[in-house]
Amino acid sequence: MRVKCVICDKIETLDDESLIAKRLRNRPIHTYMCQECNERIAARTHERIATGNFRFYRTRHDQDEW
Ligand SMILES: [Zn+2]
Repeated sequence: MRVKCVICDKIETLDDESLIAKRLRNRPIHTYMCQECNERIAARTHERIATGNFRFYRTRHDQDEW
């Protein structure tokens, strides 16, 4: 099965029996990302978490108002 990476347009060949190939066949909407792009995006996400730009908790000040 030949797949194209949505990010870098690299064509890769997947083993038809591999889990990812099966998943792509079952859900055509599911887009494929090559290993390289996957790692790049994962690294970028970790960087963003490290810089503290992600806020998991929001403090609400407007609750004091009537
Ligand atoms: Zn790629």
